[in-house]
Amino acid sequence: MATYGSEVFSAYDSVHQFDRKGKTSKTLEEARRTVEVIRETDVIVVGGGPGGIAAAVSAARAGAKTILIERYGHLGGMSTGGLVNIIPNLGSIYGERLIGGFCQELLDRLAARDAASAPEAQYWGKPNAAVVGKYVNANMTHFYVRKNAEGEYITLYTAVIDPEVAKDEINAMVYESGSELLLHTWVTEPIIEDGAVKGVIVESKSGRQALLGKVIIDCSGDGDLLPKTGVETTDYMVPGSRIAQFGWVYWICNVDLAKYDEFVSNEPEAYKRVSEEITKAGGSVFFSRGLLDNQEGVVWVHRLVGSLNQTDIEEMTYIDAKTRTEQVRGWELLKKHMPGFEKSFIMLSSPQLGTSGGRRIIGEYYLTEKDMDTDTPFEDTIAIFADNDRGELSLKYPRTYIPYRSLIPKGIDGLLVACRAFSSDHEFQEFFNLIPHCMCFGQAAGAAAAIAVSDGVSVRDVDFTKLRSELLKHGAILPNI
Ligand SMILES: Cc1cc2nc3c(=O)[nH]c(=O)nc-3n(C[C@H](O)[C@H](O)[C@H](O)COP(=O)(O)OP(=O)(O)OC[C@H]3O[C@@H](n4cnc5c(N)ncnc54)[C@H](O)[C@@H]3O)c2cc1C
Repeated sequence: MATYGSEVFSAYDSVHQFDRKGKTSKTLEEARRTVEVIRETDVIVVGGGPGGIAAAVSAARAGAKTILIERYGHLGGMSTGGLVNIIPNLGSIYGERLIGGFCQELLDRLAARDAASAPEAQYWGKPNAAVVGKYVNANMTHFYVRKNAEGEYITLYTAVIDPEVAKDEINAMVYESGSELLLHTWVTEPIIEDGAVKGVIVESKSGRQALLGKVIIDCSGDGDLLPKTGVETTDYMVPGSRIAQFGWVYWICNVDLAKYDEFVSNEPEAYKRVSEEITKAGGSVFFSRGLLDNQEGVVWVHRLVGSLNQTDIEEMTYIDAKTRTEQVRGWELLKKHMPGFEKSFIMLSSPQLGTSGGRRIIGEYYLTEKDMDTDTPFEDTIAIFADNDRGELSLKYPRTYIPYRSLIPKGIDGLLVACRAFSSDHEFQEFFNLIPHCMCFGQAAGAAAAIAVSDGVSVRDVDFTKLRSELLKHGAILPNI
């Protein structure tokens, strides 16, 4: 059995190359246009993924007039539309819960609808063979199982959510908070005046329009507003690392897992032969068992495709089309050759292509590897993350602290970044750009934006005592200071 961190999951894909034969080097000037201003508000949140939903709810709860803008017809980003429904690292290897606030609230609301599940609290950080065995058997070791200081296998606090119920519950949370919502709307550029972002331009079926706001929070995942603000960014990634991957997730259902298990254990030679045949023909026999309590015979396939250009539309198109073919071919091979898959079918492939890494700000504080190797919180800590993926170092430094300054871009006002584009280098991103992390960024940025508006100050001058108290009021877990 694998142990932890990179030892558990090291099968990342190398970078794929393709040519852009049809690309020209021509440019043209666009004509000046007058656009309709459809809202004047306090806080505009761009993108309704994990960061954006938390930001909008948090800003609205803190009293700001807020609008959340999302390009697709559903909220949740990768956690719903990307079928990335595993919410990991909610607690440390020692069993201490570290993520509270919006993330825990959403999980509780989903659990109440039978749409989320996690190991019971009594097993977090504890070596229980049956519980550990359940996740190993499901091929979910890298999300659920680690070794403790005594060398025993323990279970982590990780949850899974039903993406369809989540889309509905997230809508409910946004509307209950008082935030407005605009779906099917692409944010295309920031409106900048006197060194501050003052609004956004959007494009949709209603045409090109503008919204004006006092604070704009970029939660697009890819930092879509950043290129036109002129702020310093980096997109450095190491080929073959976790963040240098597109993800393509699909679910196969109607699988007879009892028959499959019987085949694997009773006929190991035949299983080996079938696996080799499938692999030789370009398929894969690696899948995870669906862990939602109410789903039987469902397996989850997470296909990773290496890329250093995850915001390049030509690369996105190439990867999407190529991976879809591989997905269907791979399932056809399983259906034909693997006992248990005879009556299976593909239930769903992720509606949005999975993006792991890309553009990031170099903000007022730039998080790097050295910030993982410390036990000292920042004075402006807005979240504590569990460091579970670095082997011995995780045992030594189980908590990683996040400063508010890592959400503030340098050299521009009126803008916060609360998604995986937060200020960090590639090493820090590799571990800390996951769904619960982005929800924490969002909750903090939303509260900070509301305080900046009500106090009439810049986002960089927000009174941290007020921000901390607003976060604690809504269940965030913060260090004692
Ligand atoms: C294959 C894969 C597997 C992963 N596995 C896990 C996992 O198991 N657990 C985990 O916690 N994390 C996982 N991650 C990472 C995680 O999914 C992301 O890092 C996380 O979702 C980032 O959240 P976000 O809010 O920054 O961005 P996203 O989830 O990407 O959300 C951004 C939102 O903004 C919207 N948007 C983008 N641009 C615009 C625009 N211009 N205008 C309007 N709307 C816009 C998008 O539609 C989306 O809804 C995985 C990632 C991939 C790709």
